[in-house]
Amino acid sequence: MKIVGHYINGQVSEAAERTQDVFNPATGEATKQVAIAAKETVEEAIAAAQAAFPAWRNTPPAKRAKVMFKFKQLLEENAEQICAMIGEEHGKISHDAMGELTRGIENVDFACYAPQMLKGEHSRNVGPNIDSWSEMQPLGVVAGITPFNFPAMVPLWMFPLAIVCGNTFVLKPSERDPSAAIYLAQLLQEAGLPDGVLNVVNGDKVAVDTLLTAPEVQAVSFVGSTPIAEYVYSTASAHGKRCQALGGAKNHAIIMPDADIDNAVAALTGAAFGSSGERCMALSVAVCVGDEAADTFIEKMSGEMQKLKVGAYTDSSNDFGPVITEAHMNKVNGYIASAEEQGATIVVDGRDPQVKGYENGFFVGGTLIDNVKQGMTCYEEEIFGPVLLVVRAKSMEEAMQMINDHEYGNGTCIFTRDGEAARYFSDNILVGMVGINVPLPVPVAYHSFGGWKRSLFGCLSAYGPDGVRFYTNRKTITQRWPSSGVREGAQFSFPSN
Ligand code: NAD
Repeated sequence: MKIVGHYINGQVSEAAERTQDVFNPATGEATKQVAIAAKETVEEAIAAAQAAFPAWRNTPPAKRAKVMFKFKQLLEENAEQICAMIGEEHGKISHDAMGELTRGIENVDFACYAPQMLKGEHSRNVGPNIDSWSEMQPLGVVAGITPFNFPAMVPLWMFPLAIVCGNTFVLKPSERDPSAAIYLAQLLQEAGLPDGVLNVVNGDKVAVDTLLTAPEVQAVSFVGSTPIAEYVYSTASAHGKRCQALGGAKNHAIIMPDADIDNAVAALTGAAFGSSGERCMALSVAVCVGDEAADTFIEKMSGEMQKLKVGAYTDSSNDFGPVITEAHMNKVNGYIASAEEQGATIVVDGRDPQVKGYENGFFVGGTLIDNVKQGMTCYEEEIFGPVLLVVRAKSMEEAMQMINDHEYGNGTCIFTRDGEAARYFSDNILVGMVGINVPLPVPVAYHSFGGWKRSLFGCLSAYGPDGVRFYTNRKTITQRWPSSGVREGAQFSFPSN
């Protein structure tokens, strides 16, 4: 069986004390194995990144950006191959994989602006004949740890920007769908990146812990589930590293009584079931204000759901594919069962869908559950499957309170025709990314992406302007050149204007 290895110092290596199966989730078969790095292998990658840092740091930003321009071109030329890798290991349908890759490429676009972003700030004459400026210097070796659900996009949130800012990078992708990350690294090398600037190690907790504790690693970007995000943040911080750790989500959409329900149903069909609900921005809870809105929404949504097509990534007419593993399929089915046991109403039951020719695949069909209440397991926890919950609220205030009380604060949206209500909502809701009649308010690459509460540990969001701040150290230099030697003498008072 093929082994997906590591990419260290410009070379693919299969060094592995251990390996783990990689599945095609549509067929349920293990199709390859992934190398699980030992501590020494990760240390080798860190050493390669450390050795590459001095020269890369001093490479002019415009030259670094040139590599990114070429990388973008190679990503576009090889898009189909990348999407096929994503489909085979993640199960995502090709149109969805292309959407993910396109959002990733937009981050490479943003990275091409590096010379502009790294110009810093300059003030002339902050005092008599004294100039002051701030530079954005690279940190050194930076690590990225990424989840399974966006095997190309989330790595592309991180390493292009970190690298263009002058850092070197060690990426630890998800061991469940590792191929795309290795291929991205090879394309970047083809684009002209010197060896050692980007390294990819596959692995599990051993690899992550090595990155979190290595003294050479200056900063860690993490995206994954909340318990691991919290662990990564606290461990990296305890070891003196800068850390941003993005976690899980439970994104609510409020459907107001005046909303265009057809529009809300169309928007939520994609946002709840697209990518099998395995998106941190998936809208998994519809909070309908008033029974009339709820009844109309449920009637129209259950009708729309009859058209949903679940199947393998190879057929682009499918709407969404399987979930990632058999264990995850069982977990999602378990949440549906728990909802029923705890008094909710299963309106559309997606358990055990029949997908012809893929009987052993990890499929869950679109599921709609009504009468969900706070405190139910399916409401409190992130399901990460194609399951849409409906909660009935009496007022907008009650609906907003529910969202504000939830432990997660990644994304949310409101469907309404009332501008004042929408403005009040966006102003007062305790969530990082807000949509108004927009179901998946994922910020574009020149903004930044981040949730609130337990959806993000750390104070800077991912990519965009926050990404530049995260991957650079500010240095402020104040300079004076006396006209002749030391003739002005010493000054003992605190300098001021
Ligand atoms: P995960 O937390 O299981 O894994 C993420 C990464 O952490 C992987 O690289 C994995 O190898 C590593 N890891 C797993 N267990 C570990 C441990 N015990 N110690 C150290 N490292 C460990 O997440 P996942 O299942 O791959 O991804 C799905 C989760 O990611 C969901 O909760 C989803 O909401 C979240 N997510 C969040 C965002 C965001 O931007 N907030 C984006 C995508 C996904």
